[in-house]
Amino acid sequence: MDLYEYQARDLFRKHGVPVLGGGTATTPEQAQAVAEDMFAHGSSLVVVKAQVKTGGRGKAGGVKLARSADEARAAAEKILGMDIKGHAVRTVLIAEGADIASEFYFSILLDRAERRYLAMCSKEGGMEIETLAKERPEALARVAIDPLVGVNADVAAQIVEAAGFEPGPVATGVASAIIQLWEVFSEEDATLVEVNPLVATPEDTVLAVDGKVSLDDNSRFRHPEHTDLKDTSEADPLETRAKEAGLNYVRLEGEVGVLGNGAGLVMSTLDVVAGAGERHGGMRPANFLDLGGGSSAEVMATGLEVVASDPQVRAILVNVFGGITSCDTVANGIVTAVGALEDFDKPIVVRLDGNNAALGRQILADADIDGVTVVPTMEGAADVVTEIAEKLGA
Ligand code: GDP
Ligand code: MN
Repeated sequence: MDLYEYQARDLFRKHGVPVLGGGTATTPEQAQAVAEDMFAHGSSLVVVKAQVKTGGRGKAGGVKLARSADEARAAAEKILGMDIKGHAVRTVLIAEGADIASEFYFSILLDRAERRYLAMCSKEGGMEIETLAKERPEALARVAIDPLVGVNADVAAQIVEAAGFEPGPVATGVASAIIQLWEVFSEEDATLVEVNPLVATPEDTVLAVDGKVSLDDNSRFRHPEHTDLKDTSEADPLETRAKEAGLNYVRLEGEVGVLGNGAGLVMSTLDVVAGAGERHGGMRPANFLDLGGGSSAEVMATGLEVVASDPQVRAILVNVFGGITSCDTVANGIVTAVGALEDFDKPIVVRLDGNNAALGRQILADADIDGVTVVPTMEGAADVVTEIAEKLGA
């Protein structure tokens, strides 16, 4: 999970990485109020910053300096609603402005190939790191971090020296920030912590002015507090609903909803549907949805609901291979689910095979639900469902 800059700053602050104050706003009025408070408390400069999960905001006009609350309001007015590389700006951060003498770069990331962490540091920050790495690779120090040692004072000193900092207060400040950034990385279970720029003020104070943090979703179980960082505003609402129900759902472009159990089976089903669609008006799969192992009636109901609420979907294919969850359980799930869903009017083609397939098909036949067709084979079911979808579009 990638964090917004303001969330990254909160984690920086929590772990003692030096950052200036800030507050978020979703309207120009709020931005003005936040800025007013900062100017009242002695700030002489604030920075209004687009909160989007992509880099290069400055270049895109999403970072503006303001010397009064009115200027901050005007900046927020310009930035809110802006589109930066396909990301709509809904929130701005109003950060206390730093007086910048020089800009540096620091990051620490998971280096999967080397089975290590990698720290990167440069005295030439501010510009895009990809450009720096390509044009002046010697200016970017790379130091492998032993996961069992981490970044202690010695390692931090080594990084700072490798980056070419002369001994002095700035080098000391950078080293100290690096130790705290390592704390963010390790204690929050991040896969990336990047600060560009890390700056020194004319008084040689070191500050993190920008922050990018990616958290490892696999560590969620030991960070209940990270749940609050989740951002549901950008995600597809159907994908969000499916995720909340523990379903693996990916929305695609086509017309045929697909549900199955097991990622491999669902992926094959997508291929078979796309293949059958070539004979039926170019119908294509509308989604990937893996019901998972235990396809209970409840899971089936949620799955069908999610798939059916996609307006692009004309017909649905349920393709289940009964294993531990037998086909009769799945069939009963479908009957209950369709009965429980109000106004369910999309045709469903069901293919059941494997454990108790005959019983499952019998249950569906006995239920005799309008719009539910049982087809014994995967190819046959794909053929029928794409034919139905094609006709419904005519
Ligand atoms: P990015 O473009 O998305 O990486 O956004 P940054 O937060 O890195 O801001 C871009 C640039 O704006 C920085 O490299 C700085 O030059 C400038 N900037 C950002 N914050 C401040 C600040 O507090 N004071 C000053 N003077 N400039 C800032
Ligand atoms: Mn930056």
